Amino acid sequence: MTTPPPVPLCDVTARYRLLKPQIDAAVLGVLASGQAILGPEVLAFEQEAAAFCGARFAVGCGSGTDALVLALHALGVGPGDEVIVPPFTFFATAGAVCRLGATPVFADIDPLTFNLDPTQIEARVTRKTKAVVPVHLYGQCCDMDAVRRVADRHGLVVVEDAAQSFGSEYRGRRCGTLGAAAAISFYPTKNLGAMGDAGLVTTDDPEVDRKLRALRVHGSETRYYHKYVGYNMRLDAVHAAVLRVFLPHVPAWLAGREAAAGRYDHLIEAADLHGFLRRPTALPDRRHTFNQYVVRVPAPHRDALVKHLKDNAVGVEVYYPLCLHQQECFRHLGHRAGDFPASEEAAAAVLALPIFPEITESQQARVVDVIGAYLAKALRRAA
Ligand SMILES: *Cc1c(COP(=O)(O)O)cnc(C)c1O
Repeated sequence: MTTPPPVPLCDVTARYRLLKPQIDAAVLGVLASGQAILGPEVLAFEQEAAAFCGARFAVGCGSGTDALVLALHALGVGPGDEVIVPPFTFFATAGAVCRLGATPVFADIDPLTFNLDPTQIEARVTRKTKAVVPVHLYGQCCDMDAVRRVADRHGLVVVEDAAQSFGSEYRGRRCGTLGAAAAISFYPTKNLGAMGDAGLVTTDDPEVDRKLRALRVHGSETRYYHKYVGYNMRLDAVHAAVLRVFLPHVPAWLAGREAAAGRYDHLIEAADLHGFLRRPTALPDRRHTFNQYVVRVPAPHRDALVKHLKDNAVGVEVYYPLCLHQQECFRHLGHRAGDFPASEEAAAAVLALPIFPEITESQQARVVDVIGAYLAKALRRAA
């Protein structure tokens, strides 16, 4: 018997194989131009990415984390402010708040979508609350109408953390246009992945756009004259040139992810695993782009199933095993286990299965087979 080939969690080499001549030409073009910092490639990418999202403005920067810091800073978040964020997200959502001297205040998630639960926001609002950062986790938008209603009632600024959701839609609109500004990441495994670190802020407000552009170059609008204390958070021209090659392929890549998610749904049901493994919920009023296909299993089985998948050369990851309110660096915030039950339950129960635009049905069938073998063994042991 031959061992089936490994299934990677994510494969970022496929797009290089597909587009090598264009990518190489784009990179070499920047090298030859000598325009390595900002310049025409960055400007062109910003315009194309803004048009893709349906936003008026887009400002390139060094990463999704930079984008969060820039967006919050440009919208006036600073020392002493409080910013409401979910505790079940990638660290940067809260880390960016701290970098500005503000304090992250956690509000629990909706267990169905893993996104910030809008009904949890109000109880966290104080006189110091300045902003709320809904995260569109795994590729599905947060309930933004509900978030905006609470935010408007309390005069809060809404910054989307759209790092995982480039191209995702909410009630017919792409994310990046659903708040005062949005932070997008082009980390290689995201929906639009650069060949290194890169990010973007989108906004419809010309004043915010102007301030973002200043903040990313040390707060200056005229060189060597500094209106603000800003940062060096620019998007590299090399990355911008490559992102311009990739951008037209994003619709096909997103369709590939959605098709793969649909195949998992069927394979899991056909293998009768849906009692053991809860599939992701894609709500009808939004377009889930499946940056991750995240399932939930009974918590006592989670780590054993992760090990079983790894032992069988199937890629798997836990996004995220420890909630932010329980992180060592946030101990001073005084939280304890049980403070955010939906987030903590998710952290104990989720795992991400391999997904990328080019994944094949046979690779996915292999993933589901390996899970089926785990369950059969667990049931035999229990009997
Ligand atoms: C990836 C990610 C970020 C940070 O993006 P980088 O480009 O890695 O800095 C922020 N928030 C979320 C939810 C992310 O997934």
